[in-house]
Amino acid sequence: MLYPWQRENWQRLAALRDRLPHALLLHGQQGIGKRDLALHFAQGLLCETPRADGQPCGTCGACHWFGQGNHPDFTVVRPEALEGGADGDAEAESGSKKKAPSKIIRMEQVRALIEAVGVGTHRAGLRVVVVYPLDALQTEGANALLKTLEEPPPSTVFLLVTDRLDRVLPTILSRCRQFGVTRPTHEQALAWLGSQGVADAEAQLALAGGSPLTALHAAEAEEQPLQRWLVGQLAAGGAFDALSAADQLQKLPVPAVLGILQRWTYDLLASQLDVSGRQGARYFPKERAALARCAQATDAHRLQGFAARLVSHRRNENHPLAARLVMESVFLDYRQLFR
Ligand SMILES: [Zn+2]
Repeated sequence: MLYPWQRENWQRLAALRDRLPHALLLHGQQGIGKRDLALHFAQGLLCETPRADGQPCGTCGACHWFGQGNHPDFTVVRPEALEGGADGDAEAESGSKKKAPSKIIRMEQVRALIEAVGVGTHRAGLRVVVVYPLDALQTEGANALLKTLEEPPPSTVFLLVTDRLDRVLPTILSRCRQFGVTRPTHEQALAWLGSQGVADAEAQLALAGGSPLTALHAAEAEEQPLQRWLVGQLAAGGAFDALSAADQLQKLPVPAVLGILQRWTYDLLASQLDVSGRQGARYFPKERAALARCAQATDAHRLQGFAARLVSHRRNENHPLAARLVMESVFLDYRQLFR
């Protein structure tokens, strides 16, 4: 699908159709819809009766197969963790997970891809391969892909997607035509979030660094039980059990945890400034009483210091090995607010 802010990106992409490069690397900020843009372009390339602007018709045989996920000339390569659909549901239902789904693109996947592009196309048109995120490839896989890009199979287009251009091998970069995907304007992102039913679009968008899809996911994720549990713990103030919370919340992404803490702290500060007790609680209106109680047990100076430290944690939030440590230290820090 195409998001409302992607018209200009689409026109630039469609203009490439006449002289299509073997490999196109779509890059840009996280959470702005690069992957969906790539998939829409892929469908447009495979469509048997594309519209004048290159968009897929949505009704031909090829579009039908694409929608079902079984077009014979379309291959998508992504980490297991990003595979949605039936598998994910089955796993959720079974309750006890054997192994967390992989966040990297495994070598077997790259081998299967290379095998698939080795045979001719089934529909006498193009073969389209989408790989996302490209930076999920490990060295061995990246080198294998590089070989394929160096000797591209006929009638094959690679659409590679990343928000970490700095993590892509320079040799791969040199084999690709780079395509910078632009982010939406503030107004476009806000309007879209509003249309998706996000209540506090402005704040969510700010927390997501201007990325509308990240903001939407964060807003939806707030309903999840672990996050509600965290809010319950925060409401305990000085009785917050920092170490067991870090244990409990290991499955939550650090950015989500830090985001909740930031909003909670914002509400605490607002609650302190609010003598009447009628305002405050912008993000957690149901917790107004707990916020007032916690706010009384600390002071604005300490809260502001804590808020500043959260901001600096957010700068380093994507180092997965440090996740547990970050949570522990942030939670201990939070408890200190009430000493
Ligand atoms: Zn079609």
